[in-house]
Amino acid sequence: SPELARAESLIRGIPDYPSPGILFRDITPLLADAEALRTTTAALVEPFDGAFDVVAGVEARGFILAGAAALAAGCGFVPIRKAGKLPRPAASIDYALEYGTATVEMHDDLPTGTRVLLIDDVLATGGTLAAGRSIIERLGYTVAGISVLFEIDGLGGRDVIGDLHTVFHSS
Ligand code: IMP
Repeated sequence: SPELARAESLIRGIPDYPSPGILFRDITPLLADAEALRTTTAALVEPFDGAFDVVAGVEARGFILAGAAALAAGCGFVPIRKAGKLPRPAASIDYALEYGTATVEMHDDLPTGTRVLLIDDVLATGGTLAAGRSIIERLGYTVAGISVLFEIDGLGGRDVIGDLHTVFHSS
């Protein structure tokens, strides 16, 4: 649609951030635009309409779109946070980063079997979303789907995650 094409044009590539050779996809101009934010949020949830009970996002940028998506879909939002940020974590999952490891944590306040739509802004290697999916399943919930605003091709994320919905991808 023209609205989605316009939203895509608001994603800018920043060369050599955060380190030399990396082309960082900066979605903040898209987030700052009311129509682009509304259109892309709708596109994130639309394929999963009626198939999820709650939206989850991974700290920190995942919170922005997942929170907006929850509001658009009329459901609640659940945070998946970095280690040490939640007051009563029920599970922890360690995952590999390019250098070192990270840990995500989640509460277990949902009924067993709750269908969770997992949303993030950018898919790169897939490590973050794989950890998010693992912790949702570890707690006895069902991953209703994984939806991402921007997929960076060629970094292996699609192979790690498998089935997922992406609104935009690099070409
Ligand atoms: P992955 O775990 O390698 O797939 O990295 C994905 C995570 O890093 C996501 O949570 C993104 O927020 C962040 N990320 C990686 N690359 C970019 C980028 O180019 N722009 C914005 N965020 C990025």
